[in-house]
Amino acid sequence: MILKVRGRGAFRHRIIEMGFVRGQMVQALRSAPLKDPVEFRILDSEVSLRRAEAELIEVLVCTPEEARAYAALQTGPVADMQASSDPQKAPLEKEIDSHSVIEVCMVGNPNTGKTSLYNALSGAFEHVGNYSGVTVDVKTTEFTYNGHRIRLTDLPGTYSFSPYSPEEKVVMAYLLDHKPDVLVNVVDASNLERNLYMTTQLIDMDYRVVMALNMYDELEASGAELDIAYLGTLLGIPIVPTIGRDKTGTESLLDKVIEVNEDRDKTVRHTHIPYSEEMEKSLHLLQEEIWKDPWYEPIYSSRYLAIRLLEGDTEWVGNAHLIEGLDALKAKAAAESLRLQKLFGEDVDQVFADYRYAFVRGALRETYKPANRGGLASTAGSPALSETDPGQGDVEAELPLVSSRRRITEKIDRVLTHRIWGFPIFLAFLWVMFQATFTIGQYPMDWIEAGVGALAAWLNSVLPDNIFRAVLVDGIVQGAGGVLVFLPNILILFFFVSIMESTGYMARVAFIMDKLMHTIGLHGKSFIPMIIGFGCNVPAIMATRTIESKKDRLITMLIIPFMSCSARLPVYVLLAGMFFKAQAGTVIFLIYLFGILVSILSALLFRHTILKAFDSPFVMEMPPYRWPTWRSVGRSLWVRGTQYLKKIGGIILVASIVVWALGYFPLSPEPAPGTEITPEMQARLDKEHLEQSYLGRIGKFVEPVIRPLGMNWEMGVCLLAGVSAKEVVVSTMSMIMDPAVSFTALSALSFMMFVLLYFPCIGVFSTVAKESGSWKWAVFMAVYTTLVAWIVSFLVFQIGGLFV
Ligand code: GDP
Ligand code: MG
Repeated sequence: MILKVRGRGAFRHRIIEMGFVRGQMVQALRSAPLKDPVEFRILDSEVSLRRAEAELIEVLVCTPEEARAYAALQTGPVADMQASSDPQKAPLEKEIDSHSVIEVCMVGNPNTGKTSLYNALSGAFEHVGNYSGVTVDVKTTEFTYNGHRIRLTDLPGTYSFSPYSPEEKVVMAYLLDHKPDVLVNVVDASNLERNLYMTTQLIDMDYRVVMALNMYDELEASGAELDIAYLGTLLGIPIVPTIGRDKTGTESLLDKVIEVNEDRDKTVRHTHIPYSEEMEKSLHLLQEEIWKDPWYEPIYSSRYLAIRLLEGDTEWVGNAHLIEGLDALKAKAAAESLRLQKLFGEDVDQVFADYRYAFVRGALRETYKPANRGGLASTAGSPALSETDPGQGDVEAELPLVSSRRRITEKIDRVLTHRIWGFPIFLAFLWVMFQATFTIGQYPMDWIEAGVGALAAWLNSVLPDNIFRAVLVDGIVQGAGGVLVFLPNILILFFFVSIMESTGYMARVAFIMDKLMHTIGLHGKSFIPMIIGFGCNVPAIMATRTIESKKDRLITMLIIPFMSCSARLPVYVLLAGMFFKAQAGTVIFLIYLFGILVSILSALLFRHTILKAFDSPFVMEMPPYRWPTWRSVGRSLWVRGTQYLKKIGGIILVASIVVWALGYFPLSPEPAPGTEITPEMQARLDKEHLEQSYLGRIGKFVEPVIRPLGMNWEMGVCLLAGVSAKEVVVSTMSMIMDPAVSFTALSALSFMMFVLLYFPCIGVFSTVAKESGSWKWAVFMAVYTTLVAWIVSFLVFQIGGLFV
């Protein structure tokens, strides 16, 4: 039974016309001597298909009885069947259901709102930010819409489909592997020209595409006019205006996707981007060569393959499963490519890009009317396009398509990215952020602290004094509760970060840092993962995937652990609040800056020793400023808050219990019965017991190493426990010691420095191993960070000791 017909274009149409539609029975009759082609019976006629084509038709193998049963079942159209969610459903039907999922992928330029739309369509909670490089991973969810199962995938943003950068490779590989049914091409309506460039490649590939004309609000606000229906006709792609941030148009978009999937949409038309006569001649020559090969799988149009070959991409052709005549094809492509190059006096991929842009401009001239400017004639007079890099060039600078939002953005940028003022403004912003994190956080923190204390007291009073109460009160409530206290601070910090992200200021920060980053052989792009590292180092290390150069990426990965993640914040809030009272916010701010400083110095060191290389050029996107929405800020806080709580309920809870158990065993002898135990005596007994415990022994073992840093064995235990997760430093502290007694201001500073710099946590360790592809780098990172921490803390304590 036929479940789904994949493939594209003419092939798909032909096969559907022949009766290969879902729910139809098909019988394999025989295959030719060389197993190709295969003959099938369908609708009482016999059809022969090449094996490669047959593989694009998904079938369900069933017995004649099952087939009859199914035919009897099938009363209405197939769509009705999907809608019923009868738990008694026959297994056959369930099987069919699972295959009737429509696979949809979001593709488009970075920062066009793909993830916003993805979230709006599916109710997911993926991270959205107003700068490129936020989505580095492939994210997939499944949901039901009007009885249709839809599997939606969010892909990283790319400027084109030339698999040169890591993101482009991810996207291309995904499309090849998954053969999605429909692509949603998300387009920034306020930046059409560059966005449509990528659409021309989708047209070449001959995918079934629905265009989401996103940021439609901005197009409308700018006063520009666009004839959407006509543009759709010109491109052969249905266009749906959407506003990703408030869900406008998402239902129409889904309706359109379903229509296109069922081939019911009238706009869908197989168009060609018109290249020059000579280019078409070459294309045709190569296409004929491709068609000769019986193994060719029609996943992509032969036209697209031919284009890729002419553009000099010989790797790509491997995807088409061409076997026979491959060498001849490549040779022919090389010859044609050379011919065209001589003809145009330019690289062939450049020539193709020029024609694509020309097509886009032509289409826009017919349909687009910018605000406050007569006609579109000015487009024609723009300088030669061949000067511009089609992928990343600043195309809009030379066009009248600049929206009013862009102009406002330029004004703001004149201040925020000012040569001299940019940096102090950024620092001031950071200072305010940490000041607020500390001072505003103080109030709710006190409430939670009181709540946790009250809970512990209440449990102590109602439960009998046994080991169960000990683990519950001294382990779980003290330990995990001690971390819960810092939830408000974390949320405040993320409130600021989320504002930075969603307004687009983050991209400016990367820009401001670019100069500095260049002096250490990196570029501003590396700074984005570093800032993400303020939240958590793990996603930050994953975000380095956007960095093309392997060495640059490795350096960035190795210095990210010095970016103070939010798990370290509780330690600072606790100790700085205790010993630096009024200056606590400033001290925390300086600690964060110091982390950045150490990371920069480390990068410099690596660049000149183990990872020598030149920095690679890179053009950074500057998204226009946007107002953050409550939805996106709230969502980000919600995600962070629940993550923190989950971490408390997970690794922190486990670590607290382990630490408690190590401190509880082995048991000390009970005091002789009848001895009167005063509170002071009890305290002394407890202290002795802890020193004798396994925990105490471990602590005493490491004490000599950290004594020069001004730390005692209890602090050593906290640091060791913090290896699991940095929050555990604080949870352990609240279980085994009273920091107000154990620390001095100087040793607290030394301790905070150590926490900032030493081994980040198990999670980061394994992420570095995975992302760098080798345990060696993870071990190196672990040793290096801990060594740096020791040296810095040593200097702080010893030099500080001279003054205090
Ligand atoms: P992606 O990089 O394509 O995944 O884009 P994101 O979904 O991360 O969004 C980029 C930025 O555009 C975010 O700041 C969004 O809040 C914003 N945004 C998304 N859709 C719209 C829209 O329709 N209108 C406006 N004005 N902003 C939007
Ligand atoms: Mg995204």
